[in-house]
Amino acid sequence: MTTPETILSELIRCKTVFCEQGKPFPKDEFTKLHEVIAQRFPLVHSVLEREVTDGFTLIYRWKGGEGKPVLFMAHQDVVPASESGWKYPPFSGKIADGFVWGRGAFDMKCQLVAILQAAEVLIAQGFTPNRDVYLCFTHNEEAPDETGAKAAAKLLEEKGIRFAFAIDEGGYAFYGREFGMKKDGIFISLCEKGYADIEIEALDAGGHASTPNKDTALVRVCRAIAAIERNPPKPYKNPATTQLLSATKRSIPRCKGCGLVRRMSSNPATDALIRSTIAPTMIIASNAPNVLPSEVKANLNVRLLPGQTPEAVLAYCERTAKRTGVNMRLVKANNATKISRTSGYDYEKIKRALESALPNHLPVPGIMTGATDSRYFSGICDDIYRISPFACAKEVRDAMHGVNERISIKSLYEGISFFKTLIESF
Ligand SMILES: [Zn+2]
Repeated sequence: MTTPETILSELIRCKTVFCEQGKPFPKDEFTKLHEVIAQRFPLVHSVLEREVTDGFTLIYRWKGGEGKPVLFMAHQDVVPASESGWKYPPFSGKIADGFVWGRGAFDMKCQLVAILQAAEVLIAQGFTPNRDVYLCFTHNEEAPDETGAKAAAKLLEEKGIRFAFAIDEGGYAFYGREFGMKKDGIFISLCEKGYADIEIEALDAGGHASTPNKDTALVRVCRAIAAIERNPPKPYKNPATTQLLSATKRSIPRCKGCGLVRRMSSNPATDALIRSTIAPTMIIASNAPNVLPSEVKANLNVRLLPGQTPEAVLAYCERTAKRTGVNMRLVKANNATKISRTSGYDYEKIKRALESALPNHLPVPGIMTGATDSRYFSGICDDIYRISPFACAKEVRDAMHGVNERISIKSLYEGISFFKTLIESF
């Protein structure tokens, strides 16, 4: 029997792996995935208009009434998976223990299935939405250059379409205890943090390691990194964090101030929601064990809260590591995305649909610490919300790009219910 979980299992067996170094783009696997979708969602494929852009990115239009169009997004591609360490092979799509297992099960073929299944069921019931519903399934979100999302956004813009809102992956369910809340929560992420890479450089005469001088280039770069690590940027007040904190505080009994910021600082996942983060990620020094490096370079990867610019964080790093005598410069930078609204008709509908699909979870405005394809659509969407409507995220999220990626079958149905309720409620 065909069920959403067997369809998801089939999609996982399509090895739509992008960015596997040195390997050609697996065209046949994407074609296979398109065929499975067409076969398993026949009503969607007879009622919706379908268009392909950039080779493999799919755009569907479900023609509805006069209301402002909406956009639901997912990506078809997945990151590579090593064969070892998995309970079941990563591309087996094994259904066992109440879960569908495999690469892409959570990130994010589950959402692709949830969106399509919701549409399929509604069409079968004779339902027509009261506004156009667009679906966009990109094919290289995990790659360094997201050409699919860029092409789709351009195409929709050229057609003159403007969306009331878009929903893409990203706001995850979380344990309430992380915030001291009695109830578990799920984020509706209102924005994505900005991104910057700062290069640290120190020069030196180099020489033989048997007669080392003091303060070599490598020592100075390490001191700079240590100084920045000891003095992370302070929590930064911005509208997105403020909304997150106030929604969270309201749900903590008798909370006045309540050390919430301190509590959040103690966990990397929540700490990243209240401050811009700086992570040292690369260092290049001498290439021989007995040679002092004449040039050392390191990289700091920065994720910026809305309102904090890359230049401001660079200046902060320079000040903090001033005494070490290193040079710093920005090599890549973009600001956080616009903060979407938490008021109005559509936000209320989204919140209600979440409450109905995940009744034990409080929807909380959040901040996406990573990036999604939806950022390329900010020019044609009034608001963008990042939501992964699956309660099992609390336990399985860490497996997302790692081993044993999976989604519970129960959560897959929560996702379907969310999109179905939302489309019906417009
Ligand atoms: Zn993803």
